[in-house]
Amino acid sequence: MTDRIREFLRTRRPDGPCLVVDLDVVREKYLSFAKAMPDTRVFYAVKANPSPEVLALLAELGSCFDTASVPEIEMALAAGATPERISFGNTIKKERDVARAFELGVRLYAVDCEAEVEKIARSAPGSKVFCRILSDGAGAEWPLSRKFGCDPEMAPRVLEHAHRLGLEAYGVSFHVGSQQRNTGAWDAAVASAAGIFREMADRGITLKMVNLGGGFPTRYLKNVPVVEAYAQAISDAILTHFGNHVPETIIEPGRGMVGSAGVIKAEVGLVSKKSDGDDVRWVYLDIGKFGGLAETMDEAIRYPIKTERDGDELAPCVLAGPTCDSADVLYEKEPYWLPVSLEIGDEVLIEGTGAYTTTYSAVAFNGFSPLKSYVI
Ligand SMILES: *Cc1c(COP(=O)(O)O)cnc(C)c1O
Repeated sequence: MTDRIREFLRTRRPDGPCLVVDLDVVREKYLSFAKAMPDTRVFYAVKANPSPEVLALLAELGSCFDTASVPEIEMALAAGATPERISFGNTIKKERDVARAFELGVRLYAVDCEAEVEKIARSAPGSKVFCRILSDGAGAEWPLSRKFGCDPEMAPRVLEHAHRLGLEAYGVSFHVGSQQRNTGAWDAAVASAAGIFREMADRGITLKMVNLGGGFPTRYLKNVPVVEAYAQAISDAILTHFGNHVPETIIEPGRGMVGSAGVIKAEVGLVSKKSDGDDVRWVYLDIGKFGGLAETMDEAIRYPIKTERDGDELAPCVLAGPTCDSADVLYEKEPYWLPVSLEIGDEVLIEGTGAYTTTYSAVAFNGFSPLKSYVI
């Protein structure tokens, strides 16, 4: 929560559930990444929060952009980024989208297999490609697991294929899992990347770049290390595994850039019990999994929730959303402690919601509007 968001909510009294994003926090986060990692270029992961104001601010501050689709590329361009500052970082692209990205000037692409390399070679000839390698996401609260990346053993073959087809085999990427609270998580991946650099050098191809991905956390209920601690751990890993041959590096923060900049204002719609003997109350909010809080899936992300009655006695609650889908329950396995005095109509503030909320909100499930967003 920031004073600016508090003041906005007090004076504007926006109706319905809504997200308020404070651009001052985004600016501060960008500058802290840039300062802690001065030799590393920042590619903001657009999917975390693609609001035009956020993109325009980051473009003005000098950020580059990691995109996953043609519309995201167009949003980054509209915000003022030039195409050299945009990567097409999705490893799963339609070839016609690659062609469109190429037309728009994008020259940096992610791949994780030979079939994807062939699409790029045909539709974005001469471009730079980096090969994403698998990472188990251990220690991350929102692991990205096996969907993206190839085994490090396979990467040299993929990159050599790119080289033979006239592309520039440019580097290696990975993502250590989102909301990664272990600063040591980068070490093993950097070691794999260094191994691939050596293997490629033996084949006569010089790689240049390591894309360190995202994973930088937002503070939810538990403390998280500061950006400087991540910067130090990553710099140590590079020194250990690359020695004097320090590669060009980029990072792709999403959550760590915008998560703490946003607060969702929501309302208690119902407080009830399922039986007289029930000692866990059900608290239903006017926002749930389909209104933007999708990352509560498997209760992975636990948001801090503030009420006007904080300080009163607490009791465990099942917390649920307003829609007619029984999957729309936020926290049940591990009930959420809220004030016993909480009542229907009370306002609640859900903090740390600047990332992965508006974009996850359904279009009109049960007729509920997508999550409204105010960027201030
Ligand atoms: C989503 C994504 C990111 C951002 O991850 P965070 O954990 O939110 O920082 C970075 N890179 C790629 C390729 C992604 O898909």
